Amino acid sequence: MPELPEVETIVRVLRPCLVGKTILKAELLWPRALAMPSPAEFTRRIKGQRIIDLTRRAKFLHLHLSNDHLLIHLRMSGALLVKENTYRSAKHDRLILTLSDASFFVFNDPRKFGRVWLVEDPQRVFSELGPEPLDAGFTPQMLFERLRARRRQLKPLLLDQTFIAGLGNIYTDEVLHLAKLHPLTLSNLVTVDQVECLWRAMREVLEEGIQCNGASIDWVYRGGEFQYLFRVYGRDGEPCLVCGTPIERIVIGQRGTHFCPTCQSYRS
Ligand SMILES: [Zn+2]
Repeated sequence: MPELPEVETIVRVLRPCLVGKTILKAELLWPRALAMPSPAEFTRRIKGQRIIDLTRRAKFLHLHLSNDHLLIHLRMSGALLVKENTYRSAKHDRLILTLSDASFFVFNDPRKFGRVWLVEDPQRVFSELGPEPLDAGFTPQMLFERLRARRRQLKPLLLDQTFIAGLGNIYTDEVLHLAKLHPLTLSNLVTVDQVECLWRAMREVLEEGIQCNGASIDWVYRGGEFQYLFRVYGRDGEPCLVCGTPIERIVIGQRGTHFCPTCQSYRS
């Protein structure tokens, strides 16, 4: 599933192809891809709206339209493509928007977990999301208070989108290794110094991920290069790049979790 750096990369690639164009027509090929409103209302309402901007919030793509907001979550296998006017719909296309320059904006999703929302107020979808880790307003102090207010293991807590937005399984493992924190550490026991390391590691890993155009680990998301820089993710049995200890893999909350037992020793 694309995480913050992959979605940010998609936004940066698509923005110049979409902004300024008007949506002439919407073809909803698989109506259940639409979370809200009804298919009939969606196709009627989106017609004639201009794309003012494209941004990211957590793992959502956010198209700012002249009257509404189009939000897209790619989940497991969703992909967004801009196609020329000769395009004919392909297998697994779920939504096709015809744009004013005769190009098509296509949402293709083989596994059908991706979702699309058309809403007047994006807060209807975003209200539960935690802070953005790269926002200037997100300080170590804020992270410290949020960790202390809970008593949960770091790995599942960092994956919880209501706690912090945009991290998934890969970047969480990478962040915890750089911060030298064991994934099972309880959030309320983390010291001020450890929080400072965690905050710094989040920024460093996510920014590095964005610079590499994200990570490509399957056939869905291509073009990223962060997978060549993985410290722990998918490296179980291989030596830790810091100390040489073999990386271990354990399962926490049904998610494969990779860590160095030496660099990230367990403290409770
Ligand atoms: Zn190590």
